[in-house]
Amino acid sequence: MQFKELSEIFEELEKVSSQTEMIQILADIIKKADPDEIDKICYYTLGEIAASYKKITLGIAEKIVQQSIALAVNVDIDVIKNITNNIGDLGEVAFETIKNSSNHFKDYFDAENGLTIKEVDNGLVKIATSNGSGSAEMKKKTLAAMLSIVSPIERKYLVRLVTRTMEFGVGEATVLNALATAFLGSKKEKPKLERAHNVCSDIGLIARVLDKEGIQGIMKIKITLHIPMRPMLAQRVHEFSEIKQKIDSTIIAAEEKYDGERIEAHKDGQEVTLFSRRLTDVTSQYPDIVENVKKYIKSDQAILDGEAVAYNFKDHEFKSFQKLMQRRRKYDVKEYMKDIPVRYMVFDILYRDGRSLMKKSYPERRKNLEEIIENNKLIKAAGRRLTDNLDGIDEYFQECLDKNLEGVVCKSCSDKSYYQAGARKYYWIKWKKDYASELRDTLDLVVIGAYSGRGRRRRTYGSLLCTAYNPEYDVFQTVCKLGTGFSDEELEKLPPKFKQHLRDNKPARAEVLKSVEPTYYFNPNIVVEVLGAELTKSPIHTCAQDEAGKGISLRFPRFIRWRPEKSAEEATTTTEILEMYQKQ
Ligand code: ATP
Repeated sequence: MQFKELSEIFEELEKVSSQTEMIQILADIIKKADPDEIDKICYYTLGEIAASYKKITLGIAEKIVQQSIALAVNVDIDVIKNITNNIGDLGEVAFETIKNSSNHFKDYFDAENGLTIKEVDNGLVKIATSNGSGSAEMKKKTLAAMLSIVSPIERKYLVRLVTRTMEFGVGEATVLNALATAFLGSKKEKPKLERAHNVCSDIGLIARVLDKEGIQGIMKIKITLHIPMRPMLAQRVHEFSEIKQKIDSTIIAAEEKYDGERIEAHKDGQEVTLFSRRLTDVTSQYPDIVENVKKYIKSDQAILDGEAVAYNFKDHEFKSFQKLMQRRRKYDVKEYMKDIPVRYMVFDILYRDGRSLMKKSYPERRKNLEEIIENNKLIKAAGRRLTDNLDGIDEYFQECLDKNLEGVVCKSCSDKSYYQAGARKYYWIKWKKDYASELRDTLDLVVIGAYSGRGRRRRTYGSLLCTAYNPEYDVFQTVCKLGTGFSDEELEKLPPKFKQHLRDNKPARAEVLKSVEPTYYFNPNIVVEVLGAELTKSPIHTCAQDEAGKGISLRFPRFIRWRPEKSAEEATTTTEILEMYQKQ
């Protein structure tokens, strides 16, 4: 398939405002594509060039992209810089400027009469794998060569792919819906793909297997070393006593609950890969965890689930998530590693020496973990207490608070307590110290719009329009306008923070009533943690609307923090909000 055809689809996707339409457009193009193009279509639609966990970077700065455009058009770089200053988006710059090109650079990229999707992929691979001296020149000329032989619309999307600025508001769930429609006849079949996607987060691989082997192939997809799996999640309860009622076992393991970053560690001999909650490769962020996994995990292969927690070894004290986030940086990682040491607290094991443990019960997995982990101050199996009564949990909870921890996670010890990737069920129940606050738990909401600021806020946004995720329909439904809790500094940073996500119209997956239409719309990407006073029925919000058309909204919402480690689809769901509303 020609990249031109795909680019035209991208242009269509930018304009549609209905999610159903979006899914159908994607399904149609997937059906038409060659088997070895389908994965690329999935990645490109999501704005990626390969599976996101692979951490393939093109290593091409904006400056080089401008130079490539200049080369392709055969004009001075200053001309391109000036146009960029006026237009902003480099994709548009490429669209506007390269009308007619005589430069072909065949030595760098040999293709004629446009590019096929496979050729685009070859070119991107060539750019990504050019390293060492002369690589900047190679990257620049390869891109220039590609740009010079395609049409304006292809240039726009090629540049957006390269600069990682493709945004249609399409998430993985939408692509799964499109795959289900294309191969299984209807988006209703999506749950069949979800299980596979939960244990193997490479959506391109899922698409290839589905195309080649059908649903049988999908059923066989298993947890694999170095491919991240979606983490199992914990349910919340409103009354402490509900823990005992909801959990399906008499014996309960109350585990220490750490406030750090969830880290999935894959050990394969001397090779260790670490994945974040968002399933991105964060290996380079934690060289200390890599070393400790190599040293103190006594099996050759293992996949572990745990939490990286900042720790003060002098005072023997766990530190906050905020402290740990100071380590999130590209440079000076080693220096910060000394200033902010971490412990890796391991609470699960999913794979051991060629065998998946996901279908084993929690007690069996814990036994496996204890067999292979050499506990020490740097890496340790999570502290826990087994008990059959609420007093036992409460006592352990108080001990955890004394250790500066967030609370406990109570885990079922039943035969059915398998590891359920991506699921939030009552096999794990969290109980936190914040539960004493007004609304007991915060909501993680997705920002899809903003209102202009006035007075003191005239240079920034007055408030943000926040939504919850409805996984059943794969849409975002409004819950509240958020305007309080921001520091002046935070307020000032709002417009630049959202600039990349701005769009001209309502995102296709957002459900917004006229009365709360914002001044600006954003693609649903940024997740914010919000605390409020109470949930109330509201005719102006779309979250969990009842038959009378009344939704649920959050009163007096207050900004707590950004949640960069969560994707939009991992935000609080509309069902969770409905349950919280019913129980308050
Ligand atoms: P969630 O993960 O439920 O979407 P969240 O990111 O806001 O919500 P919390 O509500 O604070 O996090 O609690 C769940 C998180 O607690 C887990 O995702 C995990 O990162 C962390 N955690 C800490 N200790 C444990 C433990 N012993 N077992 C499981 N999870 C733990």
